[in-house]
Amino acid sequence: MRQHFVICSKCEKTTSAFHRAYSGEHLCRKCFMRSIEDKAAKTISKYSMIGYGDRVAVAVSGGKDSLSMLYVLRMLFDQHPNNGNELVAVTIDEGIKGYRDESLQIVKDFCAQLRVESKVFSYKSLFGVDMDESMVLRPSEKMSSCSMCGTFRRRAIDIAAEAVDADVIATAHNMDDQLQTFMINLLAGDIERIGWICPEPVQYATGMKKVKPFIEIYEYEIAFYALQREIPFQSEECPYMNESIRTDLREFFNRLEKDHPGIKHNAYNSMMKISKSLRNAPASKGKKCSICGRGSMGDVCSVCRTVSVLTSNTQI
Ligand SMILES: [Zn+2]
Ligand SMILES: [Zn+2]
Repeated sequence: MRQHFVICSKCEKTTSAFHRAYSGEHLCRKCFMRSIEDKAAKTISKYSMIGYGDRVAVAVSGGKDSLSMLYVLRMLFDQHPNNGNELVAVTIDEGIKGYRDESLQIVKDFCAQLRVESKVFSYKSLFGVDMDESMVLRPSEKMSSCSMCGTFRRRAIDIAAEAVDADVIATAHNMDDQLQTFMINLLAGDIERIGWICPEPVQYATGMKKVKPFIEIYEYEIAFYALQREIPFQSEECPYMNESIRTDLREFFNRLEKDHPGIKHNAYNSMMKISKSLRNAPASKGKKCSICGRGSMGDVCSVCRTVSVLTSNTQI
């Protein structure tokens, strides 16, 4: 059979390495990598995610998304040294034996290679329980591993960013993550949370911003980017992840996208409009948690509620 070479539709010089079905583009390795970096830079400026002189804390797990984002931000900051931006990697150790240890080393080595300061914060030190313990302590399987872990992780990242004196927290959520989160909240009847998903930075009372520079990029494009850039990420999946409906939704959207290229993009645009209007709704004003004093939807925040259930081993 004759081999079929397709030429890159951007530079029109090199053989294509990637077919972007939803746009029809064929891209060579270089043009593909540049397209991801440009997209991230565009998203950052479109939503004013990072300002001059901002110290940016990147939540780095050791997976492909967060290490790629650290790489892209390092590159963008190096290209614009006059902007005076600083980068610091914060890693959350959930306390999952045999899983987290490998990624902690990957993060440490990669940060050294990129000349990025890195700090580790553990659930155990912040909340008194780690994930392995939580799985034993939880009163029922209805408290899923991913929802406990998600609750702890969001808070841990906030605390970590404050501890390293960051102006901005950047997380590596991609478009697929956002689609899944939207659907999870929709299916759970958790309408208020849908308002948190939109791409505009979330601004904290302290002035700190939370941003997602990869929010408009497909997950498999980031995976391909990490491979092309030879970023050494952890590929082993969390041992507790199969409890999440997220996996089903991920497969569902990928199946749809395969038959209807661009459908994820359309769904994303619709969901973000819904999210935005919900965020601006007056009912979404939060209160203060009576235990930790942080922002909360009810009298006690989800973190304090989870810790209290786990440590007393009774439902409240
Ligand atoms: Zn090219
Ligand atoms: Zn609280």
